Formats: sequence, structure tokens, C-alpha cells
Amino acid sequence: GQFEKLPLTETAKDEIGEMGSTFNEMMELLEENYRKQEEFVSNASHELKTPLTVISSYAKLLQRQGMEDPAIAEESLAAIRMETERMNSLIEQLLHIARRSETQLELANVNLPEVLGQTVKVMQTSFNREFRLIGGQQAIVVKTDVPKLKQLLYILLDNARKYSSDRIEVIVKNEGAPTIQIRDFGIGIPKESLPFVFERFYRVDKARSRDSGGFGLGLSLAKQLADALHAELEIESIENMGTTVSIVFSGDFNVQPVNLKQEGLR
Ligand code: ADP
Repeated sequence: GQFEKLPLTETAKDEIGEMGSTFNEMMELLEENYRKQEEFVSNASHELKTPLTVISSYAKLLQRQGMEDPAIAEESLAAIRMETERMNSLIEQLLHIARRSETQLELANVNLPEVLGQTVKVMQTSFNREFRLIGGQQAIVVKTDVPKLKQLLYILLDNARKYSSDRIEVIVKNEGAPTIQIRDFGIGIPKESLPFVFERFYRVDKARSRDSGGFGLGLSLAKQLADALHAELEIESIENMGTTVSIVFSGDFNVQPVNLKQEGLR
């Protein structure tokens, strides 16, 4: 195979033997990484191919019958537009995943309730849904990268919106650590699926998630963003009851004064 391991005997306990087993552990890690990359490329290609197939067959239909039948023309064009948008959104998400290591953090001291207020307002206007902001009467200042935090919030708020129909609660508090919680009262996630939701391309219900436009990349991107921001992402969910996702800022990193950029509160 690609990742040859050293044939080690059980008795190789000297330094050379130790180096050998370290080497083998490295090979195992490389192999696992390589396998994951392959799986990622194969998943991404598959997801891109699906809308292309739809676009191609509607284009054929349009060419054959679109001139005589306006209804068919209309239907084909609508489908082509929708699938183009889906492809676009997938490519954007893939680019975000790929750009991970390139972008640098732009840190500033920010008041969490203020950032949340702005984000919630945008969501509220875009989707005409109720997002109820709870807490945040007092300032909760963390050191963070605002565009990245907003991107993270949009992913979580969008999921809450997609998978529930009732109000969505956005809770901000500072009990032990600055924390944001996004809580919905929607369909929830089955217990057996919960461990996998942060994996790329994982969807609990492919058909349902596809209807709402998802590729199963949102939460893996959210995790990536949270890691970059030194925050923990926790998810709790009960099927048919709802889901709560918490962003917990770490005391060490996020609650220290910024000395890189002295621009104060934003
Ligand atoms: P998607 O883009 O498909 O929503 P995500 O990576 O954001 O993908 O989420 C992975 C899966 O986890 C989703 O397909 C959905 O099944 C489930 N999920 C995520 N958030 C919620 C939520 N708030 N309520 C119920 N299910 C959720």
C-alpha cells in the first residue's frame, strides 16, 4: 500500500524499536488522513454531480419541448435556477473549508450582546421568524474575530430556523464563562445521530435536509470556526423536542485584554 509500515517484532523494546513504533503510528495517522481526504473529495464530487445531472436533463427537456410548451419552459428554467443556486452555495461552503488555514484572526474586544443583536436582526428580517434574545442586559466582553463569530452564528441560527417552526431563543450569559446558546423547539436530532453531526457531509435525513438546502457541511464549518475562535461548541438535542447549541468561550483566550489591536469596544 501507500503507507508501508515497519515489520516490528514484539521484542523490539529498545530505542530503535520505539522509533519504529512511533513511525508506524505516524503512518497510521497519515493513512487515516488520506482516507478522510479521499472520502471528502468523493462526497464533494457526488454532491456537485447531483445538481449537474438535474440541470442537464432540464436543459434537454427545454431544448426539445420548451419552444412549444411555455409551462415546460417555465418549469425547466425554475429547476435550472434552483440547482445552480444549490451548486453555488455548495462551492462557497467548500471554499470556506479550504480557506481555513489561510485566514488570520482579526481580534478585537467586543460586547457579545451587541454582536448578537445585530446578527439576530438580520436573520429576523431575512426570514420573518421570531428570534428571541434572552439575557445580555449587562455587557459581556470577549476578545474575538467579529466576522468569524457572525458567520458561526449565522450557521447555527440558520439550522435552528430550518429544523423548527416555532420561535428560536438566543441566550447570552456569563456564568463561569461567556456563553451563547441557540435553542430551537423543532424536530431535534436522534440520539444515535448526535455523535456524527459535526462530520463533513453528515445529514440525519438526507431527503429532509436536501429540501432545506443543506449539504451536511454547516456544523462542520461551525466547528472549524469555533476552533479558530478558541471556543467550545456543544450540542444537546432531544428528538421531537428541540436542539440547543452552545458556544462557550474559553477563559484563557477570549477574556484577556487585546494588545494586538488596541481599538477597544466594537
Ligand atoms: P445541513 O447543511 O444539512 O443542515 P449541518 O452540518 O448544519 O448540515 O447539520 C448536519 C445535520 O444535523 C443536518 O442535516 C440535520 O439533520 C441535523 N441538524 C443540525 N442542526 C439541527 C437542528 N437545530 N435541529 C435538528 N437537526 C439539526
